[in-house]
Amino acid sequence: MPSDDPIPPPWLDRLQEAAARRRALGRDRAIHPPDGLDFCSNDYLGLRQDPRLAEAAAAAARAHGAGAGAARLLRGTTPLHDQLEAALAAWKGTEACLLFNTGFQANATLIPALLGPGDAVFSDALNHASLVDGCRMAKAGGASIHVFRHLDLDDLGQRLAAWRRASPSGALALVATDSVFSMDGDAADLPGLLGLCGRHQALLLADEAHATGLLGPTGAGLAEHQGVHGRVPLLLGTLGKALGSFGAFVCGPALLREHLLNAARGFVFSTALPPPVVGAALAGVEAARAEPWRRERALAHAQWLREALGQAGGPSAIVPVPIGRDGEAVRVARRLQDLGFDIRAVRPPTVPEGTARLRVTTGAHLETAQVLALARALEACLLSPRA
Ligand SMILES: *Cc1c(COP(=O)(O)O)cnc(C)c1O
Repeated sequence: MPSDDPIPPPWLDRLQEAAARRRALGRDRAIHPPDGLDFCSNDYLGLRQDPRLAEAAAAAARAHGAGAGAARLLRGTTPLHDQLEAALAAWKGTEACLLFNTGFQANATLIPALLGPGDAVFSDALNHASLVDGCRMAKAGGASIHVFRHLDLDDLGQRLAAWRRASPSGALALVATDSVFSMDGDAADLPGLLGLCGRHQALLLADEAHATGLLGPTGAGLAEHQGVHGRVPLLLGTLGKALGSFGAFVCGPALLREHLLNAARGFVFSTALPPPVVGAALAGVEAARAEPWRRERALAHAQWLREALGQAGGPSAIVPVPIGRDGEAVRVARRLQDLGFDIRAVRPPTVPEGTARLRVTTGAHLETAQVLALARALEACLLSPRA
């Protein structure tokens, strides 16, 4: 007798076991809607709910439709897509730009699009999951993966040299790194990485998801902040974080753009970003560039929090509060939530084992008094974690 359950019995066993294991480890995840003051999103510039972005989205929908209807290479391209790519290339100081539907899709598919059998990708140990998956896809295509110690240029240099000695002369190397690291808020040394890549003829991919809109004199990102504006050959950014909309883009030389639009499967085989999303992103880029007070305020808030908590930290709007044990991180987060602060615990596998933490972010939409109130509440919770 077949049962009524749509899940076949062996699958039921497998899924129930996995759920029980997650619960036993305290690792089960659930979706909780926003509740309280936003100290955990990536809406660093406070643009997500800006009426100008909503209006731009509505105007784009009226002019070009709610959806794109097809991939970019078919009829999915509107004038807004071209305008947004031009605006992003101009901002990032690069020859060209290509939109992707998400940062995840971009990273996961552009790395395998660039590497073949015998090639190699070098990846920082704390890179975002999407870069990790891009490396895995490249490996499936015959490339090798080399993970170097977090921010350690000496370790990377040694690995590049050893790989080069052991490889035929035509083999190619790509170095992939977050620019600002998503869970720690610390920053890569892009000039140092570019120097190393130059010596080893490697291509550098920097993921500016948490730096775009925030760092540098015009908010273009960490490359601008560190004086290598326009010099990173593959610069990824996202539209769904500081820029208040959704989607992602890769800036660089026109030849790389041409290669990616032909070879990156996440670009070729996916429907183009919807016009309202693109319209809102254009308004987001304009506001981010025209209103430097937004990034100054977000960064100043983060700096106050770091000082209040006695923490060093990178140039970003991400303030990690180390806790250690998973259950403890969840309890502290819950206490802060009860006080009206929307703060979430981050546990493995998002961060390494034993480094569960609160990941606090600060946006331009917060008031100074609210940031100071959080600093006081955090101090109280950390001094008496079990109270
Ligand atoms: C958020 C994030 C991504 C993914 O971007 P989405 O557009 O949200 O898919 C990629 N890289 C880093 C470092 C990120 O933080």
